[in-house]
Amino acid sequence: MTRICFSIIYASFFFFLINIISGCNSETEGIEESTKSIALGDKEITLKHFQSGEGGLKLINLHEDEQTSIEASLDYLSDAPGSLTYLNHDETRRIEFTIETDTFSIDPNRIFTDTGIEMTLEDGGSYSDDAHEEVRQLADIILEEFRFFDHDVVIAMHNNGLNGYSIESYTDDGNLSDDAELVLIEEDEDINDFYYLTDRRFYDYLTERGYNAMLQDENNVTNDGSLSVFSGMEGKPYINIEAGHGHLEKQIEMILAVEEMLIELDLMP
Ligand SMILES: [Zn+2]
Repeated sequence: MTRICFSIIYASFFFFLINIISGCNSETEGIEESTKSIALGDKEITLKHFQSGEGGLKLINLHEDEQTSIEASLDYLSDAPGSLTYLNHDETRRIEFTIETDTFSIDPNRIFTDTGIEMTLEDGGSYSDDAHEEVRQLADIILEEFRFFDHDVVIAMHNNGLNGYSIESYTDDGNLSDDAELVLIEEDEDINDFYYLTDRRFYDYLTERGYNAMLQDENNVTNDGSLSVFSGMEGKPYINIEAGHGHLEKQIEMILAVEEMLIELDLMP
């Protein structure tokens, strides 16, 4: 009798373990990946979308050479609900494309306003109205697929550190000082790890937590067509989590701090 009881308890425990293990598996494998092909002139690029459950943070990466930010996002989504949308092409920052025999080049984070499209095409060496129209369509598809207008908070993922860009770019002596209304640099923090923000509540919370941060100056920021400028124009709360290339653990920590902030501010999707 006792032996039978132990057998039943043992069997129940075994099935309990199996349940735990399969639960873990479905969670790590719970990220669904979908892709959408987009034509840009004669080039085909892919918009990748990773979805983990319902709700959660809505992350977007626009610079494919900033691989740490993609890795950090997927790591975060492996045990949290949310999504990551990113542009998959040649693992470069800029995207080159052709229309018939003409070659063009754009920075995909400079295409969300017409002024930005003009500037980035000219930076890339050549401009035409047809190219402008192609790029405008790409921007519209990115916004639509990311569901920009449905989200209460947009979170962009970037890496920096190879070309002199850092939180110091926004101080009084920095080359982008006009873009910032407020900037705070913490002594113990790396200047490449910082938040670029359009919402004062976020700035107050994250600087209070000891992070480097800047607040975009909506009246003076250069209209460069970036998602931060477009979000500002649309009144959309925007968070850019910038971390140095390779600062994987730090960038994951910074995503978690944003998650805690949105829960505390009652803004968690
Ligand atoms: Zn970037």
